[in-house]
Amino acid sequence: MFRNAFESRVVILTPTGRDAHLLGQALSSLDVRTAAATNLPVTLSLLAEGGGAALIADEALTPSALVMLRHWLSEQPPWSDLPFIILTGAGRATLQSGQRAQELLELGNFSLIERPMRLETIHSAVRSALRARLRQYEVRDRQEALQRANADLEQFANSASHDLREPLRNIAIYSDLLALEHSAGLDPQGREFLESIRSSATRMNALLTDLLSYAHASSISESDVPPIPAAKALGTALGNLDFAISEACAAVTVGDMPIVRMHESHLAQLLQNLIGNALKYRSDQRVVQIIVKAIAAGDQWLFTVEDNGIGIPEAYRETIFGIFKRLHTTGRYAGTGMGLAICQRIVERYHGRIWVEPRTTYGSRFCFTVPR
Ligand code: ADP
Repeated sequence: MFRNAFESRVVILTPTGRDAHLLGQALSSLDVRTAAATNLPVTLSLLAEGGGAALIADEALTPSALVMLRHWLSEQPPWSDLPFIILTGAGRATLQSGQRAQELLELGNFSLIERPMRLETIHSAVRSALRARLRQYEVRDRQEALQRANADLEQFANSASHDLREPLRNIAIYSDLLALEHSAGLDPQGREFLESIRSSATRMNALLTDLLSYAHASSISESDVPPIPAAKALGTALGNLDFAISEACAAVTVGDMPIVRMHESHLAQLLQNLIGNALKYRSDQRVVQIIVKAIAAGDQWLFTVEDNGIGIPEAYRETIFGIFKRLHTTGRYAGTGMGLAICQRIVERYHGRIWVEPRTTYGSRFCFTVPR
């Protein structure tokens, strides 16, 4: 919704005040607030306070004013597409040239009204411009609410994991001490119970760590990300998985890696989770083979991580990306069920997509896209 009267007002730019007066009168019957300016810098400073639409006489849009306007438009937030209504002068050369009209239309949300204008034409143009602007402000409100919710989630996960870690650490310490100093006094069942406490504490710690990563991934801002070589992120992921790769005697094949606009740590985490899963869900029937590739696909990079492991039944190919979703017991394969949910969060924050598809032979191919 409009937050204040500025946001619903129509800023009128006419180099001669006369037109402004006439337009003001024309709009007063619509019950629309207006503000008048006679040059573009003043118009833009009025719009900076908030604006519903701008009504501009085309003679005000000189070449230098257009440069200024283009710059101003480029600095607007992504949700904003301010409606401009341009009053073209019948008989004036400027806007009659189709090229200039085209130039304006390409600049943004411009509509052209020819003078002498009819009252109803102005009324309907202003009314629909304000309706469109209202919808943009609603998008802004929703985006801000989402950002607040994400920030709240991160703060909650931060304090929850911090507060829960403290007692958990005590459980781990005291059960370790118990095992170290009193295990001789326990019978086999007592020792089994103690082992259960210790492994539950370890698992809870892993869950808290992943919950925190998930919350961090929710608050990623993808704007102003410098380009980085994906090979570097992949190198980090493979380095962290060094032990697991040798333990599985896996052959990891890596294709050419592009330059991507992502934070290196996010791409590294994505690749590490996917390659880590390819190692974990391997088949003991085959030599483990993992292929990591990236190819250009339109305006995206398509990354793929293929394995020849146990594969994923079709019915679960979407659910596995949910929080805490697992297809196996912890006894068979260790894990928290958060790895793919974190991957999905990261990819979505960069406006990409992640999915899994079966390979023609064995195993799975995880695919994700990120902007080029
Ligand atoms: P975790 O591995 O901790 O269980 P994930 O979110 O990474 O959690 O994966 C969710 C589930 O998807 C896993 O429990 C597993 O059943 C399945 N899965 C993920 N990657 C693979 C893979 N490469 N091959 C077979 N199954 C997989």
